[in-house]
Amino acid sequence: MPRKPTLSPSKITTYLACPTRYKWTYVDERGKWYLRSHHYYSFGTTLHRVLQRFHDSADQGVQTVEQAVVAVEENWVNAGYRSSAEMEEAMGIGKEIVANYVDQAIMQPTGGRVLLIEKQLRMDMGPFVLLGRLDRVDELPDGTLEVIDYKSQRRGITDDDVASDLAMNCYQLLLRHHYPDRPVKASILALQTMQKGSASLSDTEASDLQGDLLALGQEILNRDYEQMEPVAKDLCPQCDFLPLCRKHPEFQLPVLELDGSLEE
Ligand code: SF4
Repeated sequence: MPRKPTLSPSKITTYLACPTRYKWTYVDERGKWYLRSHHYYSFGTTLHRVLQRFHDSADQGVQTVEQAVVAVEENWVNAGYRSSAEMEEAMGIGKEIVANYVDQAIMQPTGGRVLLIEKQLRMDMGPFVLLGRLDRVDELPDGTLEVIDYKSQRRGITDDDVASDLAMNCYQLLLRHHYPDRPVKASILALQTMQKGSASLSDTEASDLQGDLLALGQEILNRDYEQMEPVAKDLCPQCDFLPLCRKHPEFQLPVLELDGSLEE
């Protein structure tokens, strides 16, 4: 029996941002030749690895602030930096972030216990499987399960930001599916400032989301990507696939205004 297709929050958000970008990323092989490394992804990967080690009880190598700072160097990902100066500056910021994080975790423990780290959860939606990779799930003293997502580039975050975040809502659905008898909430932690925003889906919202995801997932999986024509948008100037889309005769970038913003 053929395996069911999978959709993840990042696939779905890619599609919502631009269906052609979804095509080049997940459907059409030609896209992979145009993918570039980006320093912000490398930076985020490094921080995730260090925090994963800190919370992993099987890894005793990152228990203190000093060990966390060393771990930034040990887990550093070089790709995407434009110069060694840019990379050194980022490494300094990364060390500050993890030092602050570990210090706070040691001095002000939340009282919860870490239940899952970097864990992939699945949920059969019928025509496809919804997948999500959760940075961390804590079990709080009152029994609530809190999924925590680290954002390495963000400085501020509000509860409303979390409530409207598709990925955070998908993670809640996945947790609800695997732990149906437990209250669930989702939080985003802005690592640069340690600001945290949280939200929780009601039963009605969770059921509505599941229905919306099912409809959207079917649209994504049934689109005719071969015939798809790229439609220019504000994202295009920063998009890796711009050279590919430019090959389409009808494709035209929006006009750049003098202040650098885009005009449709
Ligand atoms: S260049 Fe523009 S239209 Fe093409 S994939 Fe990127 S965002 Fe979409």
